Amino acid sequence: MTSGIRIPFMDLSYIHQPMEDELSDVFKSILQSNQYILGSHLSAFESSYAIFNQTQYAIGVSNGLDALFLSLKALGIEEGDEVIVPSNTFIASILAITALKAVPVFAEPDMQTYNICPDNIRNAITSKTKAIMPVHLYGQACDMETIATIASDNNLIIVEDNAQAQGAAFKSKLTGSWGHANATSFYPGKNLGALGDAGAVTTNDLAVAEKIQLLRNYGSDKKYYHKVAGHNMRMDNLQAAFLDIKLKHLPVWTAERQKIAAYYTQILSSVGDLILPYINADSSHVFHLYVIRTKYRDALQAYLSENGIQTLIHYPIPPHLQEAYRHLNYRKGDFPVAETIADTCLSLPLYPGLSKEQCHYIASTIASFFERL
Ligand SMILES: *Cc1c(COP(=O)(O)O)cnc(C)c1O
Repeated sequence: MTSGIRIPFMDLSYIHQPMEDELSDVFKSILQSNQYILGSHLSAFESSYAIFNQTQYAIGVSNGLDALFLSLKALGIEEGDEVIVPSNTFIASILAITALKAVPVFAEPDMQTYNICPDNIRNAITSKTKAIMPVHLYGQACDMETIATIASDNNLIIVEDNAQAQGAAFKSKLTGSWGHANATSFYPGKNLGALGDAGAVTTNDLAVAEKIQLLRNYGSDKKYYHKVAGHNMRMDNLQAAFLDIKLKHLPVWTAERQKIAAYYTQILSSVGDLILPYINADSSHVFHLYVIRTKYRDALQAYLSENGIQTLIHYPIPPHLQEAYRHLNYRKGDFPVAETIADTCLSLPLYPGLSKEQCHYIASTIASFFERL
């Protein structure tokens, strides 16, 4: 029994160490500039990110949750409106909806891709439905073509939750560029991460972009003149500067994630009862997470931990069963696909810098777990 972690779930030092001087230099220059809020680095990063995401506009905000909230709010979602959202997403997707007193309507995902199933979206539409929030879970693009058709047939807004899929695409159109306003997160562990909290909204609609700029800044575009009751949800100039430096490397990091994922899939195929990630033919997958499934999940996770391998569960409790949403009166069994995924999924370490030898150690430890069963 080894004590201590040999392979952490995530290690950001591989990507930060080589750029330490560059990050320190920009920190020093901002320190001396006295420009900390809504400065030139923020507008520079907003331009770079809009170009990266192939949208007209990107607006830097405080975090991914606020990016979702501001997107919904700018598009006019309000009390009582129904928003269709996958039953197996991270809680932030739901929190953004309920913060506006709108109603999350859960649609089950596809059991292979873990992304929201278009047929289940169709079945969830009522006269109160205003929006669909597809979540590109684990880094794989949803079937945005079908979802866009459903939205336009039913006059619905799309807000993509693109927190996990920066750079992914459906039929070569990037995630974060399909919806009316789309949110992403630069939480440090995301594929593109700040050195703290940050997020962005991407859109092709000038009016929506301007609305978000107002809402994130106290409802003001002129100091001390307030057009709407807004919020303080700005991205720091400092975080924007760090992100602009890191963005240049994102394509290389994504390619590395995809290579590690392909290696895992090669060395884990036909091990135990493992179900490995499935990639839809028209989607690209940027592997924010490499998620496997097994009915022995808890025992496997404990065994890996004993052998120094840290894993996580994304996510152990689906939103409809969270204590925070007890008042929605859902029960176990209401969304069996989400519940099955929650009971069986396990995310393996995956980050730029993870070596082939480390993957091999992880795979052989998993294999030895199943041999001992
Ligand atoms: C991380 C994440 C968010 C929230 O982003 P924060 O920056 O942490 O607020 C929202 N949705 C999904 C799917 C996420 O993974």
